[in-house]
Amino acid sequence: MTVSNKTALVTGASRGIGAAIAKRLAQDGFTIIVNYAGNAAAAEDLASVIEKAGGRALTAQADVSDPAAVARMWDAAEAAFGGIDVLVNNAGIMRLARIADADDALFDSQIGINLKGPRNTMRLAAKRLREGGRIINLSSSVVGLYQPTYGIYAATKAGVEAMTHVLARELRGRNITVNAIAPGPTATALFLDGKPAAVVETLAKLAPLERLGRPEDIANAVAFLAGPDGAWINGQILRANGGIV
Ligand code: NDP
Repeated sequence: MTVSNKTALVTGASRGIGAAIAKRLAQDGFTIIVNYAGNAAAAEDLASVIEKAGGRALTAQADVSDPAAVARMWDAAEAAFGGIDVLVNNAGIMRLARIADADDALFDSQIGINLKGPRNTMRLAAKRLREGGRIINLSSSVVGLYQPTYGIYAATKAGVEAMTHVLARELRGRNITVNAIAPGPTATALFLDGKPAAVVETLAKLAPLERLGRPEDIANAVAFLAGPDGAWINGQILRANGGIV
């Protein structure tokens, strides 16, 4: 362990990339708040894996699109640990449809979770993250790929990238960095569910490194930005994608 007495809130940490981030930051010495939406069992399992490995973790249910729920979670984390040092905005959903076919429910749900969610947490973080803190947002390399059916999802992530750049500047004088990681195709339910094996294979081969990302690949990049070695990186978007774009 290289960091101590620091707390990291990871949204959407019950599964996929968020769970890998939570595990890695716990190994690095952070106390973890494992946020989730509905999957309490997976969140509790992860917290006990972290605790058994000698780390500290607390689970916190909150739909990130709900400002009141996010505020309650933040209050509870501060009450338990005295403050939050690192915010990882990882929770997200992906619903694909051509812009011509995307209905309002598809649009509103993605805007609510992927864009309003990070805004809800960043609004609190901007005022209450501890000195020396780090904010790390999850964007996506689809912002640079422009594939059909990804329009609404990519728009939410482009919005996250814009807020990343702006908040980095708004936090001048606070010694807080704000960055985003933009993964490429990564082997989680969000990417794999509903895709035929042949499509997965084709997408896996798109990157020059010719494989899908693993959640741990993304967690490694987040750990860099959250840890001492990432201290001078601010207002940047880091594409962690094997070179796909
Ligand atoms: P998964 O679908 O595997 O996991 C999503 C996580 O987000 C779960 O923990 C889920 O909680 C949580 N979540 C969903 N909705 C909410 C909500 N309203 N409030 C709080 N938590 C919520 O996704 P990934 O791990 O693949 O994706 C993580 C992030 O990485 C997302 O932002 C995604 O857009 C981004 N990304 C993913 C890529 C990929 O190829 N996988 C590529 C580029 C970016 P629960 O278990 O309770 O449902």
